Amino acid sequence: MYSKIYRSVIFPLAEFSQGTHILKTLELLEDSQWRTPDEIRAFQESRLRELIQHSYTNVPYYRSTFDRLGLKPADINSVEDLQKLPVLTKDIIRREFPDNITAQDTPRKRLTLCHSGGSTGEPLPYYQDRQAISWRFACLFRFWRWAGYELGKRWIRLDLIAHDTPAQKMMDALGRCKFFRLSRMNQDTLRLGVEKIRKYKPQLIRGYASQVFLLAKYLKDNHITDIEPASIITTGDMLFPHYRQLIEEQFHCAVFDNYGGNSIVISSQCEWGTHHIAAENIVLEFVKDDRPVKPAEAGTVLVTDLSNYGMPFIRFRIGDLARPSQEKCKCGRGLPVMSSVVGRDTDIVVTPDGNYLVAYFFGHIFESMMSVDQFQVVQEAEDEIEVKIVKNNKFSNQDARYIEDAIRQGAGERLKIRLNFVKDIPVPRSGKIRLVISEIGKRHFAPAEQD
Ligand SMILES: [Zn+2]
Repeated sequence: MYSKIYRSVIFPLAEFSQGTHILKTLELLEDSQWRTPDEIRAFQESRLRELIQHSYTNVPYYRSTFDRLGLKPADINSVEDLQKLPVLTKDIIRREFPDNITAQDTPRKRLTLCHSGGSTGEPLPYYQDRQAISWRFACLFRFWRWAGYELGKRWIRLDLIAHDTPAQKMMDALGRCKFFRLSRMNQDTLRLGVEKIRKYKPQLIRGYASQVFLLAKYLKDNHITDIEPASIITTGDMLFPHYRQLIEEQFHCAVFDNYGGNSIVISSQCEWGTHHIAAENIVLEFVKDDRPVKPAEAGTVLVTDLSNYGMPFIRFRIGDLARPSQEKCKCGRGLPVMSSVVGRDTDIVVTPDGNYLVAYFFGHIFESMMSVDQFQVVQEAEDEIEVKIVKNNKFSNQDARYIEDAIRQGAGERLKIRLNFVKDIPVPRSGKIRLVISEIGKRHFAPAEQD
């Protein structure tokens, strides 16, 4: 009942006051997802051409980039043509923000200022216009419907930062969102979280994969079996296979992994577990050394947001590595498909022998070790990694040898492995737990700056 009123009365009123058109866009997306890949592609490219024309006419940074390269908007007609343009890096945004990279035909007061902490904690300011916000939430809500969630039903959101402004609280109340801040995760906060979920009986739980995993672990350790949401959506950080397994076992429901960044909604799993790209609203490229990757090869993710005319993101390097996929999904949607994200480029250790060790590799080593509570791998030099370990009283010398041997197998002979036993692992400013932090990986995978 509330769900109906919510969709027909409350939400439209909120939209009217905010100047968005989320529900209208959602309707469009509900239909377009069933179109053929060619139809979706044609729609996407017509939006791309409009965005390019607008950016050239109204955004100084893009105008000067086109001029410098001797390009005109008419030279960018297709997704392939985007390769003629340089990558947009976070450094370029910081350098050109705000005047050169926002549209001169959009009054600043029509734009919403956002900040992303990013995985490395360096803040990145950017603007979103109303159209971008409308498409963003429409894309998001379409993905939630895949997970079986209808607007207006109860849900719980786990986050790291507080939702404490009156406007946020009002939106949460209207949207029937119980907000739960889990920036510190220990037995006390996890117990509170579980109590909250038990009392509120949400249809959906949404949070960072690592948070939901730790909640699942708490349920298991405490033999709690009565928490049963209809579905769980993970977002923000890596959903490792062992995370998914424990979460699905303990919550007795399916996990839908969502992927996005910098307020751009990129992909979600459908009922069949396939990661579909929201291609009506973004163009996603996977590149390596300035060339598109071969099928199934991992590449740097570049995203073009087709809606944000206030501050266009064209070929934005989001900092993740992922693989494209040619797979046709059984669900019948015409939306393109990608494999899951391999990791952030800063999440990959590059060894002197040229081996790549992704976060999964380490996750796999540690997942079965009952004697390690937490770990983190840090690579600051090319020939050495530091493995921070929070051990418990079950830890033995044999375990230390096992860790070194297991890492050695993937790393090769020339990497020094230094185990460092610590009391705890500090939470970075972005708040996300990260298994691997590698400056070397970041440098290795960064494309050459194109200024
Ligand atoms: Zn599908």
